[in-house]
Amino acid sequence: MRAEGKLLSGVIMTLLVGCATHQSPTGRDQMLMFSADQMRELGAQSFEKIKQQETRSTDARVNAYVQCVADALTAPGVLAQVDPGQVERWEVVVFESKQVNAFALPGGHIGVYTGLLDVAQTPDQLAAVMGHEIGHVLADHGNEQVSRGQLTNAGLQIAQVALGASGTENSDLIMAGLGLGAQVGIMLPFGRQQESESDVIGLSLMAYAGFDPSAAVTLWQNMAKASGGAPPEFLSTHPSSQTRISQLSSLQSDAVPIYQKALAQGRKPTCKAPD
Ligand SMILES: [Zn+2]
Repeated sequence: MRAEGKLLSGVIMTLLVGCATHQSPTGRDQMLMFSADQMRELGAQSFEKIKQQETRSTDARVNAYVQCVADALTAPGVLAQVDPGQVERWEVVVFESKQVNAFALPGGHIGVYTGLLDVAQTPDQLAAVMGHEIGHVLADHGNEQVSRGQLTNAGLQIAQVALGASGTENSDLIMAGLGLGAQVGIMLPFGRQQESESDVIGLSLMAYAGFDPSAAVTLWQNMAKASGGAPPEFLSTHPSSQTRISQLSSLQSDAVPIYQKALAQGRKPTCKAPD
């Protein structure tokens, strides 16, 4: 009885210590239960699993193109505008797949499926998707998701042992919590606040990097059009609502001056989409 009480108070202490309030880059209060190291570990392990499942593109031009857009968005001077703590090197992998999808994971890992390039048709539009995904990482949305509800237990277990060793069910849940719902077949979309926050951050990253922010609006219009046939995987966790498009339109007045300044300072990425 006493031992149990002691154990329980230990757990509660851990949770209380872990629950220090954080603020997202846009100033929103967040409850995060996992350390940056734990999130990096979950991100790295999830990325390994995806790499095992998928086929990497061997098209040198496509790889160079996606890498070029990623390099511009994750340049230290660009990331520091949103999150001064970001100094990591980002890893980018292109997967050969019809999936219209992309993701970014804690620890700096980006996956882009070649199917996305049919919908994100220009470097600026591709930057809109990748900037949005990087926004989820910079704002710790994966940490928020796995700190929540029924995911917490799985997260706590998995943070202590390797993802692979702790049961497929839990690791799939965690991957869904990190934004990989379409890949593991568990739809666990980020919340509307998180989506809208990633849109804001993604737009800033684009503009600072010298990509035309108006392409974010076009991109989501393309997504909406593409949903007429087989809906793009990206849309299963990212509804392309009129609300999103309206918000991105109204944010242009903030983003355009940042974009123009980037151009004036000579930041204009020269990424060329393959034919
Ligand atoms: Zn999103």
